[in-house]
Amino acid sequence: MLENRLRTEKSEELFARACKVIPGGVNSPVRAFRSIGGTPRMIASANGSHMTDEDGNTYLDFVGSWGPMILGHNHPAVREAVIKACEDGLSFGAATKKEVEMAELICGSVPNVEMVRMVNSGTEAVMSAVRAARGFTGRDKIIKFAGCYHGHADAMLVQAGSGVMTAGVPDSAGVPKGCAADTLTAVYNEPKSVQDLFERFPDEIAAVIVEPVGANMGVVLPEDGFLQALRSLCDRYKAVLIFDEVITGFRLGFAGAQGYFGVDADLVTYGKIIGAGMPVGAYGGKREIMECVSPLGKVYQAGTLSGNPVAMAAGIAQLTLLRDTPGFYEELNQKAKWFYGRVEKTVRESGLKAVVNSCASLGCVFFTDQAVVNYETAKTSDTDRFAKYCHAMFDAGIYLAPSQFEAMFLSAAHKKEELEYALDVMRSCLNTL
Ligand SMILES: *Cc1c(COP(=O)(O)O)cnc(C)c1O
Repeated sequence: MLENRLRTEKSEELFARACKVIPGGVNSPVRAFRSIGGTPRMIASANGSHMTDEDGNTYLDFVGSWGPMILGHNHPAVREAVIKACEDGLSFGAATKKEVEMAELICGSVPNVEMVRMVNSGTEAVMSAVRAARGFTGRDKIIKFAGCYHGHADAMLVQAGSGVMTAGVPDSAGVPKGCAADTLTAVYNEPKSVQDLFERFPDEIAAVIVEPVGANMGVVLPEDGFLQALRSLCDRYKAVLIFDEVITGFRLGFAGAQGYFGVDADLVTYGKIIGAGMPVGAYGGKREIMECVSPLGKVYQAGTLSGNPVAMAAGIAQLTLLRDTPGFYEELNQKAKWFYGRVEKTVRESGLKAVVNSCASLGCVFFTDQAVVNYETAKTSDTDRFAKYCHAMFDAGIYLAPSQFEAMFLSAAHKKEELEYALDVMRSCLNTL
């Protein structure tokens, strides 16, 4: 099976055309397959747990558009809501009922998100939340963690994860020194590194921003007490705690990481799942902070297409299903627990140096023999070995994120027999490494 390489002529032809008119041939760097080599598959369609490329190859997909597709691709309820919204017009540039419903859904998910503002991407959500935190506190500095990715806003491109990790550039060119000067970096899972920064700048830190589960340096779980420690440090120094839940929001559970770990943030950023595949983000949190945002307060933030009715229709359909399907998260997380347990067993039996991290439906195989608890340990992974593994999986019809430093995303659409198949393929692939 593994010798049977898939046909990729059409993907290659399209990618060659793309490279002439789009930088690197892609609209987001990780899609270019740079860290594993080879030609990106041009995807033509997707349904349930599968994607089909332009050459007609079908893959069992573990990316799910990087998270949004928790119900599986092309879910009928979402698709129908979008079609229906299209019939009423694509955009009005005015307030709509759907925005109210969407905000109510998000605010109804956790008690401490009292107000929410819709934006068009996770990047925008983070950028705006940081601005709100700075406006609220009147302070400039922020603390982020090495290996956490918070989108591509200037201030966030400091020791960022995801594509930034494998692009081989620790920081981006084009970011003025001044924009990143107020971004302090701490070590994930080391509260002491945060405390040290607070002690150095006790009255200058506006916010601590964290991915409550690191999901852009592979998957890195918060150790017991880590998130709680951030909560108490922020309380002590009167800084705003921002959970970047662009991945974990509505994934770990309907209440996101806040509900899953029982720690409250002051501001929360969302994206991915809340748009069900449409370009959407949101930031929300405590009323007293959100009331600083214009037109109520002095923190300016706006968006011509923010709260777009078609995007809202998709998000409302997905979130409503997630909220109202009995046992949805229990079932998904249980299936994931079984699957990642089996992945771990498969990896162990292969005799390769590898560790498996997982949290609910997020998981990652790191090719290293060290426990992966932060950016430094994630970077000990053998990325050449990952590249070989990833290509072998592709050739056998399993679509993984084409980088060591990304998560696997399980959806409700992944059937147990499909996961069994993926495990069989994984076993064969690991044996070829
Ligand atoms: C994807 C992601 C972002 C950025 O969202 P975009 O929609 O790509 O701008 C921000 N934070 C986290 C944690 C993410 O995973």
